[in-house]
Amino acid sequence: MKPQCPVCGNGGTAELIRYLDGPVLQNVLCRTREEALALPKDRMVLSGCPA
Ligand SMILES: [Zn+2]
Repeated sequence: MKPQCPVCGNGGTAELIRYLDGPVLQNVLCRTREEALALPKDRMVLSGCPA
């Protein structure tokens, strides 16, 4: 089932990027490489609305 656009309600959103093991916290700055690599990771799908 495709996700519905939260702005216009369009159900025809398209998958843009799929992370199988990507960082779940965006816009977080880390002081060290080790701290960055220790952040939680998970599967994530980003979709866009063509409307
Ligand atoms: Zn939309």
